[in-house]
Order: sequence, then structure tokens, then C-alpha cells
Amino acid sequence: MLTDKIDELLKEVSALSAKNAEDVEQLRLKYLSKKGEINAIIADFRNVAKEEKRELGIKINELKKAATDKINALREQVETTETASESLDLTRTAYPVDLGTRHPLTLVRNEIIDIFQRMGFTLYNGPEVDDDKHVFTMLNFAADHPARDMQDTFFISQNPNDVTKNVLLRSHTSGDEAHYMETHEPPIRVLCPGRVYRNEAISARAHCFFHQVEGLYVDKGVSFTDLKQVLLTFAREMFGADTKIRLRPSFFPFTEPSAEMDISCSICGGKGCNFCKHTGWVEILGCGMVDPHDLAACNIDPEVYTGYAFGMGVERIANLKYGVNDLRLFSENDTRFLEEFQSAY
Ligand SMILES: [Zn+2]
Repeated sequence: MLTDKIDELLKEVSALSAKNAEDVEQLRLKYLSKKGEINAIIADFRNVAKEEKRELGIKINELKKAATDKINALREQVETTETASESLDLTRTAYPVDLGTRHPLTLVRNEIIDIFQRMGFTLYNGPEVDDDKHVFTMLNFAADHPARDMQDTFFISQNPNDVTKNVLLRSHTSGDEAHYMETHEPPIRVLCPGRVYRNEAISARAHCFFHQVEGLYVDKGVSFTDLKQVLLTFAREMFGADTKIRLRPSFFPFTEPSAEMDISCSICGGKGCNFCKHTGWVEILGCGMVDPHDLAACNIDPEVYTGYAFGMGVERIANLKYGVNDLRLFSENDTRFLEEFQSAY
């Protein structure tokens, strides 16, 4: 009987399975093709008595739909498994991670450190919150020096009876040198990089925090000539072999004599341009011979030892190197700016 045949096929179809696309195609041919089982039933249907046609018609449609749905489901199932195994890349990360970039100030700081480390300097990181004694007193700042003023420095706490006990955010990394000299015997050759804070109105040229790298060398017989040669080597490594330097007399409380160092303008090569204000020179750092007062304050005998110190702003060097003329860009976290340094090393 046709109705038994349909029931049998319905059972068969619901139990179908396939391992791959080839199996699915075979099933399609067997049940749904022109010469397939279902078409054979439809052919027999023509010979069925008129009164049975309605009920059987419904059953045949049911069978055809069940077979089509089942075979489509099997096709989808094998396609998913096959694609998944072909494109499965076990080395991919579980979640998307964009490659970041080093911050331009980190790039420049690392380069400065690298140059001086090759000349034998070691690294020391001092505290960002420090006391007046190390930041000012030991470095020969007069009691009424303007740096000790609220207008210039951020104080954490002030001691009305003894200014040397004031606690503050360091305004330069020179305090690190005092810490280091206090706890180390010469020969001392140390580099102190770090963030410093000053109470300044924020503009393109000034910020309430910036970064410095200071260097200190204390030993027997250290002279100004040594300082000049070290700084010339640094300038040539940092800005190119043709770079010239010049030293201009200056004043810092903690060095005597003191000087500001200029380098020949890397943009015009010393001929004069807008960047160097047509002088051919740009200022990059301050330096000098360590004041004997500072050595004595750190229990180093100034009759036996001499030393030099220098300090530079990392932002200043980054401005010169990358032509960034607004200091605020460094701390705004604008990824469009930071991504410009993706190819920098
Ligand atoms: Zn120039």
C-alpha cells in the first residue's frame, strides 16, 4: 500500500545522517531527484482511487517537506564543520588586541638613557614625593629662593618651624642626585630620569608636570673638559654626527661654574631659520661643575673630589627630534597623535 510506503519513508528520512557533502548529495539523489523515491510515489499517486487522493496528497507533501528540510539541515551541518576545520587558526588570539605604540616621551627617554649607559652611567630612580632637604637645601638653594615659593612648587605639607622638613612634589630630579650621593661613595656616575612638577599655568610651552633626565659624575680629577666631551658625544649621538655644541655661562644654585648648552639647529644646519629664531642654535640643557657645598652636604670631601652635573627636559628633546611644538599633546592621550609614533623605534 502507498500509505505504508510513505510512513516507511518518513521514518527513514527522519533518521538520515551524513558525514560530508558527498553523502548529502547521494541522499538528495536518492529522495529528491527526478528518479528519486518521492517522485516514484508521486507517479503511483496518479493511480490511486479518487476518494483516497486528498488524504494521501497531504501525506506526500508532508514527506517531501520532511525530506527537503532534513537534507538541507544535513548540508548546512557538514558545510559548517568543513569550513570550521579548514579555517581554524590555533595561533590566533582569543580576542582582538590592537598593537600599541611607545609614547614619544618614552622613546626619547630610552634613547637618552641608552646613550649615557654606553658611556658608563648607571640608573637611579628617586622619589617623586620628596622633602625640602633633598630637593633644595642640600643643593644650595637659598632659604628665600623663589623655587621654595607656593607659586612655583606643589607642597604636600609645610612645616612652620623648619622649611627643610616640608614635603613636596619634586620640582627637578636633582634631588635624586642628593639621595644618591648621600648613600654612595665616589666614583659616582649616575643618571636620574623621572617626572617633575611645577606650579605653572598650562600652555603650549609650559605644563604642571614634565620629565627630566639628570646626570652626575663625581670622582677625583673630574673637570669641565670631561663634561664638555660627554655632552658633545651625547649631542652627536642624539641629533647626528654633524651636530655642534656651544656653552653659555649661566647660573644654577647647585653648580659652579654653570652653563647652558645649545646645539646647532638640526633643521637649518646652523644657517638660521624660524625654528632657531635665525640664530642657528637651540638650547637643550643646563650643566655645570657640582658646587663644593653640595658635595660637603652629602659627606663627600670637596678637597678630594670634584664632579659635574647636567639636566635636560625630555619634552624639549622630543620637540626638537619630532617637531612637536605643543607640550600639551604629550599628555592628552589623543591616539591620533600617539599613533604617529607607531613606526618610531
Ligand atoms: Zn634653524
